[in-house]
Amino acid sequence: MNIQEQANLCIAQGALTNSKRPSTFVEGVYPTHLVRGRACYVWDTAGKKYFDYICGLGSNLLGYGQQDICRAMMDRMHDGATLSLSTPIEIDVANRLKSIFPFVDCVKFLKTGTEACSAAVRIARAATGKEWILSEGYHGWSDIFVSQTSPALGVAEKFKIAPLGDWLQAEERLAKGNVAAIIIEPVMTNASPERAKSLNQLRALCTKYRTLLIFDEIITGFRFPKFSVANYFGIEPDLILLGKAIANGMPLSVVGGKKEIMNCDEYFVSSTFAGETLSLVAAQKTIDLLRNGQYKLDTLWHKGEEWLKEFNSLWPSELRIEGYATRGRFEGDPLAKALFFQEAVDSGLLFGPSWFFNFPLAEKSEITLSAVRDIVCKIKTGGVRLRGKMPQSPFAEKMRTKSSTTP
Ligand code: PMP
Repeated sequence: MNIQEQANLCIAQGALTNSKRPSTFVEGVYPTHLVRGRACYVWDTAGKKYFDYICGLGSNLLGYGQQDICRAMMDRMHDGATLSLSTPIEIDVANRLKSIFPFVDCVKFLKTGTEACSAAVRIARAATGKEWILSEGYHGWSDIFVSQTSPALGVAEKFKIAPLGDWLQAEERLAKGNVAAIIIEPVMTNASPERAKSLNQLRALCTKYRTLLIFDEIITGFRFPKFSVANYFGIEPDLILLGKAIANGMPLSVVGGKKEIMNCDEYFVSSTFAGETLSLVAAQKTIDLLRNGQYKLDTLWHKGEEWLKEFNSLWPSELRIEGYATRGRFEGDPLAKALFFQEAVDSGLLFGPSWFFNFPLAEKSEITLSAVRDIVCKIKTGGVRLRGKMPQSPFAEKMRTKSSTTP
């Protein structure tokens, strides 16, 4: 029995994270499980080594096993991971975040992006006394957000949430006075000045109608120069949500905003592991390393832009990566993508639907680009055949069963 067959017998749906499902890649050709990572490399169960352009789904920014972070966590580990009362470390990390984000007075720490997004909705409703939420982008797997997407099996039909839709028509909806918040990913792939202009307009509308503007920066946080889209574009959201890269792969998420909102009332957001110290120490170190100049987000941005530009010049009509310097998505002909993934994995490069860039990869651009050039050249000459299955969307297209009207 191979390892995925073993997983299928004991892990529900065969994988814990949709984006890690074998069907998302070229099933039959791709590794399904990894055993370790170091810097920009990962190793599969057969011992094969890859350059990792998935970067732990965006959580790996400074490299796997970054030495300063490891040492700080090892020191902390001996003193307990989760203590019985609050710890000073949470105050320290909160203050570090406050010094990065001028619009943040107070934070709540949680573990996952999903939790941060769900908490933000609750805080926004408590702070405004309004109920509706307008959303754009992905905000995790909780009922309220999944009620908007397929598959929504197991999720009730009615939540007071609706797609944001056309931003130009948002004013009409906000004017009704019942929208607590707009929650968006401020940048999905488009980081242009036009996007900044639209975000500024949305900011003004939200202020006018007392609707909170929530930036879900779970992906973009610590992946933009100045740490975030908010700082990069100079726009102040009412709440910012961080996760993924902020603790370099340790589970930590943040909801942050002004004290009037964060301390508005006795809303209920509480979790045993929220103050878990290992992740907080990892965040402390990550922030220090980014602020003391050992790792410069500006430099990463510059190198990522160069990598993307070169990649997109190779094969533009068939396959492109749409995005910004540290994150993008493969777009184009599905077969070209499948062939590229297959040949890349053969050559020791691991790609997934989302492309991520990090500091140790930036050091290896020449090697990986040269491998990519060879792969594209080989596919262009026409001799490559797909040996595995075509990659599928990580989200199954299944609709919910009809809900009943009585409890
Ligand atoms: N928001 C955004 C923008 C995300 O990309 C994700 C996860 N990819 C989430 C929220 C949910 O985060 P998590 O998977 O940690 O629950």
